[in-house]
Amino acid sequence: MVHTNWAGNITFGAREVHRPGAVDEVRALVAGAGRVRALGSGHSFNRIADTDGELISLAGLPPRVEIDAAASRVTVAGGLRYGDFADRLYAAGFALPNLGSLPHISVAGAVATATHGSGVRNTSLASSVSGLELVTAEGELVEIRRGHPDFAGMVVGLGGFGVVTALTLDLVPGFEIAQYVYDRLPAEEFAGHAQEILGAGYSVSVFTTWRTDQLDQVWVKGPRTQDVPGPRWFGATRADGPRHPVPGMDTRHCTTQLGEPGPWQHRLPHFRMDFTPSTGRELQSEFFVPRANVVAAYRALDTIRDRMSPLVQTCEIRTIAAEGLWLSPAAERDSAAFHFTWIDDTPAVTALLPVIEELLSPFAVRPHWGKLFTCDAATLRTRYDHYADFERLLAHYDPGGKFGNDFLDRHFTRA
Ligand SMILES: Cc1cc2nc3c(=O)[nH]c(=O)nc-3n(C[C@H](O)[C@H](O)[C@H](O)COP(=O)(O)OP(=O)(O)OC[C@H]3O[C@@H](n4cnc5c(N)ncnc54)[C@H](O)[C@@H]3O)c2cc1C
Repeated sequence: MVHTNWAGNITFGAREVHRPGAVDEVRALVAGAGRVRALGSGHSFNRIADTDGELISLAGLPPRVEIDAAASRVTVAGGLRYGDFADRLYAAGFALPNLGSLPHISVAGAVATATHGSGVRNTSLASSVSGLELVTAEGELVEIRRGHPDFAGMVVGLGGFGVVTALTLDLVPGFEIAQYVYDRLPAEEFAGHAQEILGAGYSVSVFTTWRTDQLDQVWVKGPRTQDVPGPRWFGATRADGPRHPVPGMDTRHCTTQLGEPGPWQHRLPHFRMDFTPSTGRELQSEFFVPRANVVAAYRALDTIRDRMSPLVQTCEIRTIAAEGLWLSPAAERDSAAFHFTWIDDTPAVTALLPVIEELLSPFAVRPHWGKLFTCDAATLRTRYDHYADFERLLAHYDPGGKFGNDFLDRHFTRA
């Protein structure tokens, strides 16, 4: 059987995809394997989840969700998707501080690549992790908790340390939030007031197709309705109906807008759990720069707007607060990220990526690990303080490279 990622642009080279029903089965599979890797929900766009050995999907593990109300944390099975348990957290009076654009992504896969939402005060989803249970190369089940010297290196682990069978996440009190969309933000207003605009809500996303001198939409997510900007805002107009981030697409797939408050898990993602957000006919890339450089980076990209716009379905500008996780693209710096949803034209997109990476190189750009990029190990090494430390950890936990694959081997050496 042929296995592909969600977008269908990657056909996995794995001989087999196992779907164990218990953690002990995961241990036996890993212990007996040559090369092996965990597969999450397959939402990455590059070969990060691929292997020439065997893949293990945890979607068949018991759907463990253990809420520890006294400690404000939850332990969830590694194969669960955020949308599988977010309603239960809300019902118990809790929330996660943030979510990505869709709730269909597995927690373990999202954490492994530092998946993020937006918000100048919100770190990536990986920052909520306080503990990992993982099956290491010998088939041992180990627990790594915050405070362990290797913790900051292992959370955003790119699947290189083993199969994460459970994660413990810090919780915050449950909250409601409303979202408003603003249409047609003039580019000069964005350039003049970017920090204020990006900081105008709990979570703000600016969308542009690079086709006009206006940024198509700004999504502002509450939390308090009275704090949300008025109907005319920096030359943009509050939308009079629901919007889809990709102009012209069906808005039924999107979470409720127009200022109607609702539980955090039904407003923070752009897309609803009960709809498949698109046909998967897309590719994605995302590039992180220091938030202070967002306007300079925007202006640099604007110089190739004519080359980008035919390939872009939409481009989203988000913010991510600095965090201490070694390989997070927001490691140690408050960041702004330029996310691109491309049309599914791999040759054209991969030809343009080095141009974008070069334009953003003055800002020490870091790519999203789960999306398309072309910059090499030598470049990436200069962009992370703990790159060599991460390589040392890989060598320590998996000296034989059982969890290695072409993607990891290309970007990291086992020191
Ligand atoms: C439509 C769409 C929207 C997206 N929106 C966002 C967004 O808003 N923000 C953002 O930052 N990213 C976003 N992404 C990217 C996505 O969040 C990342 O690619 C993420 O890694 C996907 O998680 P996954 O479970 O599908 O992982 P996979 O793609 O299956 O795997 C990714 C990596 O995680 C590892 N992994 C998976 N499960 C485990 C496990 N149990 N143990 C150890 N390692 C594991 C894999 O080995 C691999 O290295 C989006 C992607 C799509 C397709």
